Amino acid sequence: MGMEQQEADRTVAEAVARGINYFDVAPSYGDGDAEEKRRVRGNRPNRCCGTLAKIFWRSPSVSGFQHRFWVCGSGLEFLRPRRQENSLKDLKRKLTVAAMTALFAAVLFQIVSVPSAAQSDDAALIAKAKAIHGRVLKLDTHNDIEPSNFTPGCNYTMRLTTQVNLPKMVEGGMDVSFMIAYVGQGPLTSEGYDHAYRQAIAKFDAIHRLTEQIAPDQIGLALSPADVFALHKKNLRIAVIGVENGYPIGTDIKRVKEFYDRGGRYMSLAHNGNSQLADSNTGEAQGYLYNNGLSPLGREVIAEMNRLGMMVDLSHPSKGANLEAIRLSKAPVIASHSGVRALADVSRNMDDEQLLALKENGGVIQVVGFASYIKTDSKERVEALAKLREDFGLAAPGGRGGGRGRGRGNAEFAGGGAPGTARACPVEGADGSAPAGRRGGGGFGRGRGNAGLDALSPEMRAEYDKRLAEIDAKFPPARRANVKDFVNHIDYAVKLIGIDHVGISSDFDGGGGIDGWNSAAEAFNVTLELVRRGYTEEQIGRLWSGNLLRVWGEVQKVAQKLQNEKG
Ligand SMILES: [Zn+2]
Repeated sequence: MGMEQQEADRTVAEAVARGINYFDVAPSYGDGDAEEKRRVRGNRPNRCCGTLAKIFWRSPSVSGFQHRFWVCGSGLEFLRPRRQENSLKDLKRKLTVAAMTALFAAVLFQIVSVPSAAQSDDAALIAKAKAIHGRVLKLDTHNDIEPSNFTPGCNYTMRLTTQVNLPKMVEGGMDVSFMIAYVGQGPLTSEGYDHAYRQAIAKFDAIHRLTEQIAPDQIGLALSPADVFALHKKNLRIAVIGVENGYPIGTDIKRVKEFYDRGGRYMSLAHNGNSQLADSNTGEAQGYLYNNGLSPLGREVIAEMNRLGMMVDLSHPSKGANLEAIRLSKAPVIASHSGVRALADVSRNMDDEQLLALKENGGVIQVVGFASYIKTDSKERVEALAKLREDFGLAAPGGRGGGRGRGRGNAEFAGGGAPGTARACPVEGADGSAPAGRRGGGGFGRGRGNAGLDALSPEMRAEYDKRLAEIDAKFPPARRANVKDFVNHIDYAVKLIGIDHVGISSDFDGGGGIDGWNSAAEAFNVTLELVRRGYTEEQIGRLWSGNLLRVWGEVQKVAQKLQNEKG
């Protein structure tokens, strides 16, 4: 592969010298290798001598884009130039390259305009998807933030390693980012509440800094769907604030209004771990505080959110708490970033009963591109691992599926991100360093809660490792989820509750990311897969933003009505 890679690199260099700066053989889906290979071989069987080299190549002109494609032994297949502003006509033009000699070093590029039927079908589909992606408003309801990336010297105008920032939003055509005032669950004490409140405020302030001081010429803060449309018309990116975990309001109901006044437009009543307002999904493994429901204060908070016009977010609270919230809410509710439990059995995902209740309520589930909520290990593997832990007297991993990716949570409770902390700005390196948090949420069902493991004697540990290796061999861990797996969740939800109640979210910078959609820059791959599955432009528009904006508008109307009634 080493030699082939070098040859391939030279081929790319030559193509670049000819002004071709953008290759696209197949969407870079994570597990698509086998499929891409089949396409490379299958479409031009006679042209491929059987040597397939996989190339990872970063375009010098479209910064940060990493393209993957396969080259066939005697030349590049389906080579297609695609400059950023290419017209539809250009996109449809197919170019193939025939290699003149066996060695890439001596390749002369010849443009042959005789694409196969399959190729032109695919090109037409990609062109169609691009046009749709360009026209619909694209909104992501869950992007975490770190306040230290919202300072004059280090911020989202720069191409940071974060999965979301302005260059990546522009690149992926993303219009709206719900930036999140997230606080991890801590102790239900006055010190705990105070600490959480300060963290939440730091995040509210950070988002205001970005939209009001750092980059008001690039991104604006929306407080209503009307703001979203107005800012979009001005060709600006749009930030909206979501609150993840009601923990920082403490026991002071007035803080709900304070958070609303600071721009918060949705809030979940809990994160992972029961809060003072609601039981958490992690209660399935760890037990509930409020009989799998809301606390009396939690019920008041729902009423207050309805009165103010703040969307109630069901991602993270327990099923019981969610069903209670749906019963109590006078306005439609949302799940800002959740998957479908029927396809991935983790407590963070919504089961059919919750989804049907959400439909009845008029709400929307924003299906999340979080790898371990999309694709889980096989039942056999989960059972074998549980048995293994049991045999060694190890506790079950806490909060199945509720755990958060590395680099988040505890560090924040310990005061991470406080201003003044010495810290290098995470500007993305020329090598395209992996986005921070990308690995978060990986390794589901393994490696968590290893304190007990460390306590085993060396002999016991060796035995444990041996049996784990046997399990790995017999029931391998699930491969990382990709865009197809993600859209499977969308398909399921659409079939069960209808297209009007389903949307899209990523959980970027909070553990989200799947192969093919690992940053805002790769949003097109989602649209492309939706087009492949036959969704129409109108339906794709609803999924990407229409449904969420409808719900938000209805929540505002209900608030207006409630406020009018009170006089
Ligand atoms: Zn979350």
